[in-house]
Amino acid sequence: MSTEIDFYELLEVERTADDKVLKSAYRKLAMKFHPDKNPGCADSEAKFKQINEAYGCLSDPQKRAAYDRYGHAAFQQGGGGQAGGFGGGGDFGDIGDIFETIFGGGFAGGRQQARRGADLRYDMEITLEDAFHGKDSEIAVEVSQKCEPCAGSGATPGTSARRCNLCKGHGKVRAQQGFFMVERPCPTCHGRGEVIESPCKHCRGEGRVDAEQRLQVNIPAGVDNGTRIRLAGKGEAGPFGAPAGDLYIFLHVQRHNMFEREGTTLMARCPISFTKAALGGEVEIPGLDGKVHVIEIPAGIQSGKQLRKRGAGMPVLQGRGVGDLVIELHVETPTKLSARQKELLREFQASETGEECPQSKGFFDRIKDAWSDLTE
Ligand SMILES: [Zn+2]
Ligand SMILES: [Zn+2]
Repeated sequence: MSTEIDFYELLEVERTADDKVLKSAYRKLAMKFHPDKNPGCADSEAKFKQINEAYGCLSDPQKRAAYDRYGHAAFQQGGGGQAGGFGGGGDFGDIGDIFETIFGGGFAGGRQQARRGADLRYDMEITLEDAFHGKDSEIAVEVSQKCEPCAGSGATPGTSARRCNLCKGHGKVRAQQGFFMVERPCPTCHGRGEVIESPCKHCRGEGRVDAEQRLQVNIPAGVDNGTRIRLAGKGEAGPFGAPAGDLYIFLHVQRHNMFEREGTTLMARCPISFTKAALGGEVEIPGLDGKVHVIEIPAGIQSGKQLRKRGAGMPVLQGRGVGDLVIELHVETPTKLSARQKELLREFQASETGEECPQSKGFFDRIKDAWSDLTE
């Protein structure tokens, strides 16, 4: 079961990234994972290959357009006259066109070949914790599968399909239309070139039956919203024993009550008391890794200031390293003071010279200057 990572994710760019952004992201990553820089490291080499493949696709406008529509499926079927796609039958012609322009392939003349089964989409919700740790999950999908009794042939076991008499196995017949001779799919065998005389009872001659399928899905650590996982050959069975399509799992990461995520960075808003802001101290943040991260607060910190803890964020998808944890501090003004606390604060207020808060002092000094300019 292979897992495919989204090309945009590999290059760490938005889906809307223009050529310039794409190129610079590619160069940065290619430098980082270049085999010369990481001699003997199989991980880097694999990553380097993936990056090159991703850039090779996205830097070509036609390939990129195909990728945006069909994902990896656009490049895995080749020009052998086979087609498949999300949404089933309605899409076939369209995809055939695209393959023709990209690969110069398309349908070979003569007998129409068996078509690959359709690709399927499965949406899965996961928590941010799942995205952090990775997860093994089992899903149940209702999908057509090759009929076992007839092994996908559609013919009663022990019998087989015979060549179509009308088209002599070509799958197409010629007909006069006005002045022209036109070719159209054979009405007897519907283009297959073969006829089943004794259809399999189990699948009514279709060669495939709908059944619930239970599948193991391995979600790697570091996935994000929109990451797609491809389960090769787990889509719809192809008609009459043709290869199955793929199943794509689209991941949706739920909102977290504490963290927001930007790529590999985890962000959290963190309220602190005004005494801690003034005197300094530390805050403890329970990370997704199960550890408690202690972050030092320097004395005199202001509201809105961000502090970063390296290596306490999200893991990098299929790579090494971990992003950062960033907390944004919000100084909370106390609202429930005891009489004693009020007394202490009044005492503090009485001792203020204005030098404690240079920003406020500077601001009011400027107002004073502007006022005296006006009255001079
Ligand atoms: Zn025929
Ligand atoms: Zn059957």
